[in-house]
Amino acid sequence: MTAGTSQDVTFRAEVRDWLEAQLSGEFAGLRGSGGPGREHEHLQERAAWERRLGEAGWIGIGWPDPRYGRALSLQRQVIFHEEYARAAAPGRLGHIGEQLLVPTLLANGTEEQKERFVPGVAAGEVMWCQGYSEPDAGSDLANVGTRAVLDGDRWVVTGQKIWTSLAHVADWCIVIARTEPGSQRHAGLSFLLVPMDQPGVTVRPIVQLTGTSEFNEVFLDGAVAAAGDVVGEPGQGWRVAMSLLGFERGVSTLGQQIGFARELKAITARARENGAADDPVLADRIVSAWVDLQVMRHTALRTLGSDAAREAPWAANVSKLLWANWHRRLGELAMAVEGAAAVVTSGLPYELTDEQRLFLFSRADTIYGGSNEVQRNVLAERHLGLPRDRA
Ligand SMILES: Cc1cc2nc3c(=O)[nH]c(=O)nc-3n(C[C@H](O)[C@H](O)[C@H](O)COP(=O)(O)OP(=O)(O)OC[C@H]3O[C@@H](n4cnc5c(N)ncnc54)[C@H](O)[C@@H]3O)c2cc1C
Repeated sequence: MTAGTSQDVTFRAEVRDWLEAQLSGEFAGLRGSGGPGREHEHLQERAAWERRLGEAGWIGIGWPDPRYGRALSLQRQVIFHEEYARAAAPGRLGHIGEQLLVPTLLANGTEEQKERFVPGVAAGEVMWCQGYSEPDAGSDLANVGTRAVLDGDRWVVTGQKIWTSLAHVADWCIVIARTEPGSQRHAGLSFLLVPMDQPGVTVRPIVQLTGTSEFNEVFLDGAVAAAGDVVGEPGQGWRVAMSLLGFERGVSTLGQQIGFARELKAITARARENGAADDPVLADRIVSAWVDLQVMRHTALRTLGSDAAREAPWAANVSKLLWANWHRRLGELAMAVEGAAAVVTSGLPYELTDEQRLFLFSRADTIYGGSNEVQRNVLAERHLGLPRDRA
């Protein structure tokens, strides 16, 4: 990010100093923890970290409603995310509540819902997960089969969600459910807020390639939600569900790129150290990765603001394709730099190096948040006027 105004420079110093003080003191052990493939680390301490962020007013800095958040400028939000990544501060447990649920509530919820749900997220005390995907509804989300029936003052929810990130630490789940019997596709769905700690909810972690579990299966067997805990009108949940997806990966993209730069730097250092950099093909891949990272950074900076989103409505799809494929290639590069050693775990039974974790987890980057194929379909149909997907 460019230096910005002198107040922005002061703000950056404030964020940096705060993070440095926290991560040298009580939370020193959390530096670098909780990222992809390390989600299981220090769960209790990271929950305490969320509360510390909340106390210090670092949660919801971009929420536009000053009653709840700080409505900071885009520039400052980017600064915060950049400094957070630069300090190797821990992987967030609260990001689904902060970055998806609350913006959706502020845009679509009732005053009562905002008052009830936003303060817990702002304080770093209440964790959320996102129950959209199902075994038969991933890219084709409109095929949701989970049902909810209104029974007096409560919804009774039955179905199965899958790939639900952080469901094992969440207090609440956003559940997209079919509330109009016999309805099809986008019609008749509702956006429900379901408490996780109840007999009708069972969470089963899914072991991923990294040997750890970031996501889960969530079984809803007569799970209960209060009748009023539906965001938007019952039956109109598709619109609200899509509004939430619009909040995915906003300003945090630039912070994410700081993390990417750190990974590339480590791979480059390793290549120098083990001689892989003497191979001109590998050296060329490192240079290409660096060049592409600069292009992504400048593209992200130019397409962040709301004007840019209006002028370039395809930017989010292009950006997802760019970073996800870049990061997957980076994982492959990390393995190439390691050579034959890449296929041996660093310890038994399944201990991985950072590079191995990067390689294995980055295979998921081109799936979640809309797969490569889905992004290309959207670009083809909505922006290039190509024939509709027939799949
Ligand atoms: C790390 C990770 C975290 C996740 N976290 C969450 C979460 O918290 N909450 C949640 O609800 N979901 C989550 N997901 C699920 C994610 O949203 C889905 O994996 C994604 O939508 C794809 O759905 P699917 O896995 O069912 O694959 P499918 O939709 O079955 O797709 C399988 C393959 O077919 C391709 N394909 C599908 N349709 C088409 C088409 N029309 N044309 C061309 N190709 C097509 C896809 O691109 C893919 O390659 C997560 C996924 C991952 C990997």
